[in-house]
Amino acid sequence: TADTFKAIAAKDGEVQAFLALNQEAATASAANQDDQGIDADATLAGIPVAIKDNIVTKDLTTTAASKMLANFVPIYDATVIERLQQAGMIVVGKTNMDEFAMGSSTENSAMKITKNAWDHTKVPGGSSGGSAAAVAAGEVLVALGSDTGGSIRQPAAFNGVVGFKPTYGRVSRWGLIAFGSSLDAIGTLTRNVRDSAHVMNAIIGADEHDTTTVPRPQEDLGAKIGQSVQGMKIALPKEYLGKGVDAGVRAQIEAAADQFRAMGATVETVSLPHTQYAVPTYYIIASSEASSNLQRFDGIRYGFRAKDVQSLDSVYVRSRSEGFGDEVKRRIMLGTFSLSAGFYDAYFKKAAQVRTLISRDFENVFKEYDLVMGPTTPTTAFGIGAKVTDPLTMYMNDILTIPVNLAGLPAASVNAGFVDGMPVGLQLIGKAFDEATIYQAAAAFE
Ligand code: GLN
Repeated sequence: TADTFKAIAAKDGEVQAFLALNQEAATASAANQDDQGIDADATLAGIPVAIKDNIVTKDLTTTAASKMLANFVPIYDATVIERLQQAGMIVVGKTNMDEFAMGSSTENSAMKITKNAWDHTKVPGGSSGGSAAAVAAGEVLVALGSDTGGSIRQPAAFNGVVGFKPTYGRVSRWGLIAFGSSLDAIGTLTRNVRDSAHVMNAIIGADEHDTTTVPRPQEDLGAKIGQSVQGMKIALPKEYLGKGVDAGVRAQIEAAADQFRAMGATVETVSLPHTQYAVPTYYIIASSEASSNLQRFDGIRYGFRAKDVQSLDSVYVRSRSEGFGDEVKRRIMLGTFSLSAGFYDAYFKKAAQVRTLISRDFENVFKEYDLVMGPTTPTTAFGIGAKVTDPLTMYMNDILTIPVNLAGLPAASVNAGFVDGMPVGLQLIGKAFDEATIYQAAAAFE
């Protein structure tokens, strides 16, 4: 723990990954693991972990990088935090993100700009950019993130680390500040595949506080790490190497396919024909759910309240106008519009139907294949400021990660090499609840 705080002190001045440090409590709890009944030999005992700032931590500020929650100190821990602590992990701090997890570059944070660990003029990706940069810069070995449309995998790709998003329902969302409740998943950012499996094993499983979690027998998601990929059938969708995908990125993914073939797997081209509709479908569904989830931030119950207001109406209007950033307001307006009477059938309902078609694309491919592979992102990390004024271009950066959330599937991003000195992510997508096969292939590739 002491070494971790030294590493953070040495590196975070430049990278700016952390919003809050938990030094006193972390040091105390590291010293008292015996009294807490933690077995010193347990795999995760005493290992420091950083937490994305939309996961609530008791007595430790949790802001979701929003002015709305700038002073919010939760009175309880998220289920994932309780489980990490039971496994002996030490929470060392909270990491920067796009406000309420809305964004792909961490530039939508109301707090600060985080830098890509490889090139400080580039974005770290988002929305879990702080978690990815902290791991890549060597500040911590493990961080938690959340992934609604790519927010773990895309920053993992941009920083050359391992990002893992589990099946929807695998990990409790209790204590995750909700964005799109039918899409949100908590997962890991780590330096290697095995560490990810260890941490995922600690946080998975049913939770009475989240009725979408699925009860299953105890499992080791890393059980197949070390097994050969001989005979594995991997699908490479042609839509994932199409136009918009940078030539350098494409070359690295084709090289990865050859590497799998050399290890005895079959890699074949398939089609996921509804991929082109994923981005608009996602933005309607995610924004609709967000507009509902964010209603609770009204300036009354908790969170930011505007000063010198004269009426109850203006408490709501001014607190929300001043407390939320531009991207969050854009999503609330889009979501409220899509759900409103007269537009519901044309937008929300239509998006829900297209979502089913996107899920069926995957179901068809998984009848014959064990995994789907492709790039995590169409390009490597872009420059700070390059896309911030152009939301549509920013949204298109998520085209390869969003279909996975719409279908509720598990997926990882692992480093596949570099283009002009910047990391390229290889995405591996699995069948629902078949995280073990993703880890098997990712470890073989690593
Ligand atoms: N970049 C996407 C968005 O802005 C995904 C974010 C996420 O996964 N939380 O909605």
